[in-house]
Amino acid sequence: MSSDDDVHGADDVHGGGAGQAARGTGGQEGSGATGEVWDVVVVGAGPAGASAAHAAATAGRRVLLLEKAELPRYKTCGGGIIGPSRDALPPGFVLPLKDRIHAVTFSHNGRLTRTRRSKQMLFGLINRPEFDAGLVAVAEKAGATVRTGTAVARVEQHGAAVPDRRTVAVVLADGETVLARAVVGADGSASRIGAHVGVEMDTVDLGLEAEIPVPQTVAEDWKGRVLIDWGPLPGSYGWVFPKGDTLTVGVISAKGEGAATKRYLDDFIARLGLAGFEPAVSSGHLTRCRKPESPLSRGRVLVAGDAAGLLEPWTREGISFALRSGRLAGEWAVKISEAQDAVDARRQALNYSFAVKAGLGVEMGVGKRMLTLFEARPGLLHAAITGFRPAWTSFARIVRGSTTLADLVRTYPLVRKGLHALDERQARSARD
Ligand SMILES: Cc1cc2nc3c(=O)[nH]c(=O)nc-3n(C[C@H](O)[C@H](O)[C@H](O)COP(=O)(O)OP(=O)(O)OC[C@H]3O[C@@H](n4cnc5c(N)ncnc54)[C@H](O)[C@@H]3O)c2cc1C
Repeated sequence: MSSDDDVHGADDVHGGGAGQAARGTGGQEGSGATGEVWDVVVVGAGPAGASAAHAAATAGRRVLLLEKAELPRYKTCGGGIIGPSRDALPPGFVLPLKDRIHAVTFSHNGRLTRTRRSKQMLFGLINRPEFDAGLVAVAEKAGATVRTGTAVARVEQHGAAVPDRRTVAVVLADGETVLARAVVGADGSASRIGAHVGVEMDTVDLGLEAEIPVPQTVAEDWKGRVLIDWGPLPGSYGWVFPKGDTLTVGVISAKGEGAATKRYLDDFIARLGLAGFEPAVSSGHLTRCRKPESPLSRGRVLVAGDAAGLLEPWTREGISFALRSGRLAGEWAVKISEAQDAVDARRQALNYSFAVKAGLGVEMGVGKRMLTLFEARPGLLHAAITGFRPAWTSFARIVRGSTTLADLVRTYPLVRKGLHALDERQARSARD
C-alpha cells in the first residue's frame, strides 16, 4: 500500500492471507419478509455490536445482530486488551490471550531505548478474529440471533418501508428490509449508521499494520514485552505486539501523510531487524475520533464504538470504548424498544448520550489534551515515562485499569496544572 488514498471508500485493505478464514456463525433467518418486528437490531459484530447484542439479549429482548463479513473476520488492530477492556467483558468470558505483557520498551524514533518492567501483568494481547468471534458467540448464547454475510445499506425512520412511528426499517444490501423497535449502529469507523445519525469526526488517523510470523528464537525475545516507539510524524507512534509465533507491528499517524506513514512502518520494521520476514497480512485502517458535541442518536437509532467515533484520541485505544459504549447502547436500546412514542424514545436516547458523554466523553477530552501535548513535545513525554518513576507508575496503573488519565488529572494538582498551562498556550496561539 503506498498511500492513505488506498483506504478511501473502504476502511480495511488487506494483503496476504493469514487470519482471513471465512466461517459463518449460522446465518439464521430474521424478519422482514414476514413483517416480524425485532426489539433490537444491531448493525456490525465487532466488540461494540457484540456487547450491545449481549446486553439487549440478556434483558430478554429479541435481538438480531447483522454482520457483513463471515466470522471470524480479520480486523486491523494491535489487539491490546487493557484493564478497562477486560473489566467490560461479558461475565464469564475467557480472554483468548496470546501473551501477557510485563515489560514495555520505549524508544523515541528508534533512539533513547529503555525497558520498564512490572511484576504485575500490565495488559494482554489477543487476535481480533478469535476475540470478536468469541464475543459474538456469547451474545448468541444469551439469545441473540446472528446473521453473517449480511451488509446493511441504510436505515429509514420515515417513508413507505416504515409501518409506524415506533418502527425503524433496516434495509439490507440485497434489498431485504428488517424491522426493529430500536437500532444500534456498531458498524465501525466508516459507519453508515453514524452518517444517518450525523456523527461528526474531529480527527482521522491512518493505522498501518503487518502480521509478521517469526522463528521461535525471535518470538522468545519478545515474549511478555511490547515496544512502543514515539514516531517522527506529529502524534505518530509505532508498536510491536507479540502473539506467540507472530509479531503485530504497526504505526499510526494523522491521515493525509500516507506515504510518510508507510515509510515510518518500513523503517520501523527494518530497524527492528524484521525486514527479512514476510508478513502474513499487511493492512491499513482509518480511525476516527468524534467531535464531542456531535450526536450519538437520532430517533430510535443509537451509535456505539468506532461508529460513534468513540476512541482514546492519544493512544487510539478503542476496544474498551467499543465494549463500554456497546453495552450502554444495548441497555438503552431495550428502553427505546419499549417506548410508546417519539418523546419517550428521545428521552431514553438522550439518557444514553448523557451516560456516554459523562464517562467516555470525559476520558476522550483528557486524551485529546494529551495528544496535543504529545504532538508538541514527544521528547518530554518519552523522558518522563522512561526517567520519572511516577510517570511510569501512572502509565502502568492506567493500562492495568486501576485508574484513568481523567482520574489522575482530577487527583494530582501538578498534572492538572500542566494541562491547564497547555490549554492556555493553545488558546493564546489560536487568538494570535
Ligand atoms: C492499526 C490499529 C490498531 C489498533 N490497536 C488497538 C489496540 O491494540 N487496542 C485497542 O483497544 N484498540 C485498538 N484499535 C482500535 C480498535 O480496533 C477499534 O476501536 C475497535 O475495533 C472498535 O470496535 P467496533 O466494534 O466499534 O468496530 P469494528 O471492530 O470495526 O467492528 C465493526 C463491524 O461492523 C461490520 N460492518 C461494517 N459495515 C457494515 C454494514 N454496512 N453492515 C453490516 N456490518 C457492517 C464490520 O465488518 C465489523 O465487523 C486499533 C485500531 C487500528 C486501526
